[in-house]
Amino acid sequence: RHVPEDIATLLSMTQPLKLRGFQKWDVFCEAVHNMMTNPLLPADGRGVMVALRPAPGLRVEQAVTLCRPNRTGDIMTIGENRLVLFLSFCRINDLDTALNHIFPLPTGDVFSNRMVWFEDKQITSEILQMQAVKPERWTTPLPITTGPETVMNVEHDGRSWRRIPEPIRLAETHGEHAS
Ligand code: C2E
Ligand code: C2E
Repeated sequence: RHVPEDIATLLSMTQPLKLRGFQKWDVFCEAVHNMMTNPLLPADGRGVMVALRPAPGLRVEQAVTLCRPNRTGDIMTIGENRLVLFLSFCRINDLDTALNHIFPLPTGDVFSNRMVWFEDKQITSEILQMQAVKPERWTTPLPITTGPETVMNVEHDGRSWRRIPEPIRLAETHGEHAS
């Protein structure tokens, strides 16, 4: 059926809100940029963007496997050794609450540095800088992040995530060969 053009435009503007979880760098930037320019969303209440730098010894593609957004509209990407997360409609005062819902471990244990943007202007200006980053600097996630086997040994008890201990085999470090 024919959809009037203005309705089609309105519908397309709500699309980024349907995304969730890991996005390629350019898709992430485009989605956040679209939200910032969407007149249907409340000014300066569209969400919070946070960039997290992994603690020494942890790679960003490892850290991102701990990032499990539940809410539709919560998206993240990785590049330049940082994880950038956009939390739709989250208020700045609720950032820690939201991060506790999203990470099974305290974020202070996983990340050593955090930068936060919560006004449309700040977010847009950071997105413009991110869009200038060359594809060579985008980080490819480990297969586990995008594959079908993404279940972690964690359980949500209604308030927060709890880890369930599970035996693991310590072998096959990246880049090493057993024989
Ligand atoms: P959704 O927004 O995509 O959220 C998916 C799931 O993420 C929720 O499942 C919940 O487990 C978790 N979640 C998202 N935001 C929050 C939050 O602010 N606090 C907490 N504690 N958990 C959160 P759930 O509860 O089964 O909800 C399913 C869907 O129903 C949600 O999808 C949303 O579309 C709608 N919904 C449920 N409760 C609310 C609400 O209070 N306000 C709004 N606007 N929508 C709600
Ligand atoms: P809010 O979105 O205004 O939600 C207020 C409260 O409504 C939440 O308190 C939660 O009790 C309930 N609620 C909202 N959405 C859902 C839902 O989809 N499912 C369920 N079961 N409950 C829901 P809570 O959890 O203490 O969160 C406080 C605030 O923290 C939220 O305010 C939101 O601004 C932020 N937040 C929390 N979790 C998330 C998240 O997963 N993603 C984002 N983007 N923001 C979150």
